[in-house]
Amino acid sequence: MKNYHVYECMKCSHKWGTANENPLRCPKCHTSKWNSPPVPRMIRTESLKSRLKPEIREEVYDLYEDGKGCIEISNILHLSFGDVMDAIVIKYSGESVRI
Ligand SMILES: [Zn+2]
Repeated sequence: MKNYHVYECMKCSHKWGTANENPLRCPKCHTSKWNSPPVPRMIRTESLKSRLKPEIREEVYDLYEDGKGCIEISNILHLSFGDVMDAIVIKYSGESVRI
């Protein structure tokens, strides 16, 4: 005998019963995220603010264009790796970032 589960979609509040232990999608709104609580919007790369001053960021980009990686740049400019990484990700989002 199969267990019967009742699930509730977190997106549209639709309730449905199924023998499926792990439904992939809500049958009503078809979201695959039906089981995750509504999360505050993730910080998107484009809305990321770099903590670095623009002139410092320009130096970061210059070094990056020269082929340096984030670790090297943070050493050269005495910045934290995270700051360098943020700045690079903001400008080169979508590309793989050289560490
Ligand atoms: Zn739904």
